[in-house]
Amino acid sequence: MDIPRIFNITESAHRIHNPLTPEKLATLGAALRLEWGTRVLDLGSGSGEMLCTWARDYGIMGVGIDMSQLFSQQAKLRAEDLGVADRVEFIHGDAVGYVADEKVGVAACLGATWIGGGVVGTIELLAKSLRSEGIILIGEPYWLRLPPTQEVAKGCFANSISDFLMLPELLASFGELDYDVVEMVLADQEGWDRYEAAKWLTMRRWLAANPSDDFAKEVRAKLALEPKRYAAYTREYLGWGVFALMAR
Ligand code: SAH
Repeated sequence: MDIPRIFNITESAHRIHNPLTPEKLATLGAALRLEWGTRVLDLGSGSGEMLCTWARDYGIMGVGIDMSQLFSQQAKLRAEDLGVADRVEFIHGDAVGYVADEKVGVAACLGATWIGGGVVGTIELLAKSLRSEGIILIGEPYWLRLPPTQEVAKGCFANSISDFLMLPELLASFGELDYDVVEMVLADQEGWDRYEAAKWLTMRRWLAANPSDDFAKEVRAKLALEPKRYAAYTREYLGWGVFALMAR
């Protein structure tokens, strides 16, 4: 079981697989006023940076589930490096339908809301693991500016303009689900650059190390096109944020 190989190649050197910088990830943890010992569930936990650094800095106990074998392995190594292997557990597996045995104070899904079939389904799934007065974290894109055409939306790797909302509408949509938005941390262009531009050097180095791999042609083509695509579309049109929600 694994995710499409292209992500395991392009994001192999990432610790954070979303446009938040390490500083913003720490800001988010501080903003939530986490109490020492709070249990945190993370669906699509990637390389585990959120749980590992929050375990180190705020004393949380974490469980993360991720379908990438590579990222799950990196998460375990990161936990050892940060000396928090006794506080966090990383499970390599499919997070679809995953409900924690023991209720958690924070249930998160950052940049992987397809796990619940979209934002609404992911909130419903996370709510099943949450204790009362717990916090749900959703990391999701929104339009910074509405794309003028469907082509621009596709340039941002959306299927269509209707895939995402503008920030005010996204915030209002949580209210319509009967949740209060109690905090948010938004990515900026610098964070997007760290997330996207870091893939380019990774691709370049991967190509040098794997010149005759079946995938080399695809990676070479992607490396040639990505900087311009990113600058023209994602960087200009797409926002990204983590929204903290509490049921009304
Ligand atoms: N939340 C992490 C990773 C975001 S990238 C971070 O912000 O750093 C999306 C992640 O979802 C990837 O790590 C990918 O491996 C994982 N993923 C995709 N489908 C999944 C599934 N069905 N179950 C669990 N993880 C999944």
